[in-house]
Amino acid sequence: MRILLTNDDGIHAPGLDVLEAIARPLSDDIWICAPSEEQSGAGHSLTLTRPVRLREHGPRRFSVSGTPTDAVTMALKRLLPAAPDLILSGVNRGANLGDDVTYSGTVSAALEGALAGIRSIALSQVYAKEGMADTVPFDAAAHWGEQVLRPLLDAPFAPRTLVNVNFPPISAEAVKGIRVVRQGFHDYARGSVVEGTDPRGYRYFWFGLHGIEHTPGHASDLEAIADGYVSVTPLHLDLTHEASLAALAARFDG
Ligand code: MN
Repeated sequence: MRILLTNDDGIHAPGLDVLEAIARPLSDDIWICAPSEEQSGAGHSLTLTRPVRLREHGPRRFSVSGTPTDAVTMALKRLLPAAPDLILSGVNRGANLGDDVTYSGTVSAALEGALAGIRSIALSQVYAKEGMADTVPFDAAAHWGEQVLRPLLDAPFAPRTLVNVNFPPISAEAVKGIRVVRQGFHDYARGSVVEGTDPRGYRYFWFGLHGIEHTPGHASDLEAIADGYVSVTPLHLDLTHEASLAALAARFDG
């Protein structure tokens, strides 16, 4: 089984090492291609206005000066001898839950794989910020990763779908199990915009991710994580709102 690993936090991300450790028992044909720098929040963006540089870091280990989608595209079109059987994206440093998934470079890298017809799975480690310390414990992901992946290796994936996995921000022993749940949604407009002044005296703005809340319940990925479970959510790119199709079409009839 040939596996492609990627990670939107970059080729040197600790979460990529965690993912490689999870994947090694599954195969000895592992390829890595990730952005050279952190690309969190890059979503499904593709670099079109400048060239992308490729760098080899070791056998079957590459970085690209682009987005997570660029990294997967480069791997599929230029690096691998044939299509991989599996693409794993992560383990991301931080949650990819609810309607945040469209911002996610981690989920989008898996989405690119799904569009290419390859079984693709995104993995993210939720973490809780404590004071200014910002170390992400990948404990839950490291210990539950293989257990989550094994059943997904031969599970039927519908065409153009991927699976989004999130690990809760607790120790591996405290994790209660695995729940297959729907994508949730947040309550508030996301993020914050912080204003400052640069060293030359000009005003700047910096976008953050503070204050994102959700209402418990709804049998969602957000609820599963809050309850201490690993969440597993099948996703697809088709954003069509089926229920609105007929009513909207009627507006244009006659
Ligand atoms: Mn990231």
